[in-house]
Amino acid sequence: MDLGLTDKVAVITGGSVGIGLAVAEGLAAEGAHLVLAARQADRVADEAARVASAHGVRAIGVACDVATAEGCAALVAATEEAFGGADILVNNAGKGTNETIQDAPDDKWQYFWELHVMAAVRLARGLVPSMKSRGGGVILHNASICAVQPIWYEPIYNTTKAALMMFSKTLANEVIPDNIRVNCVNPGLIMTVDWVTHAKAMSADTGGDWQAVLKAIAEEDAAIKRFATPEELAHFFVFLCSDKASYSVGSTYFVDGGMLKTV
Ligand code: NDP
Repeated sequence: MDLGLTDKVAVITGGSVGIGLAVAEGLAAEGAHLVLAARQADRVADEAARVASAHGVRAIGVACDVATAEGCAALVAATEEAFGGADILVNNAGKGTNETIQDAPDDKWQYFWELHVMAAVRLARGLVPSMKSRGGGVILHNASICAVQPIWYEPIYNTTKAALMMFSKTLANEVIPDNIRVNCVNPGLIMTVDWVTHAKAMSADTGGDWQAVLKAIAEEDAAIKRFATPEELAHFFVFLCSDKASYSVGSTYFVDGGMLKTV
């Protein structure tokens, strides 16, 4: 099935590893050119070069911090310079938190507001004009199941991801007249490096069987009783980026192996 993504230009934040890299690979496999953004310069440059060579597309890595206005401006400028604008924006950069509301200071709340919400606001402001001039586009937000089903130890994550989900809906209404489709995805358990780090920390005092910790989490939380691979989730993002999803506007889709405990 031709998804019609050949020669589209996709900007992916957090594109150097994990889910963002899998989405980048999926889009490149369909012929899209890439702008990958992350803070660690070497890793994002290496991955951009590797994906470009594997799929015969053009890709650049942009070292920037999207939790800052300057970082977002640098990403927009690099995209303009390399490709003259973008057709697709995937707001994916993000991170789990760990705190209580009683103890977390204001600056922690502020940081995750900047990373999870303001990055999406600023990059929409920066990239929507070129999408308009190219005749339309797609913006996807990677929120989390935690946007609607909170996990007790990460109130800042739950709250800022819920805000991102609402931002996605609101932006969708504003830009659909310009043929820009905006949607949000709420993943469940996706096996990325952070989970392994978390499981190793949790098992450190009890023998170090981190695989058993991950198995227990999957069996407890997901009806399907396993984690997804980043690639399984990336297929869904690639579909939403394509014209095959032409009537999908302003929605939030769960890709969670049955983790959501309601309808
Ligand atoms: P990873 O930690 O594997 O990757 C995060 C990516 O974001 C890296 O490329 C990292 O690169 C980049 N990044 C982080 N902070 C910034 C920043 N301030 N500016 C620019 N780039 C940044 O994460 P995952 O792949 O696991 O998660 C990706 C997204 O998916 C996140 O938003 C997460 O909340 C969401 N999600 C993940 C789930 C999971 O189970 N894994 C479940 C639900 C949602 P660098 O460090 O070089 O900046």
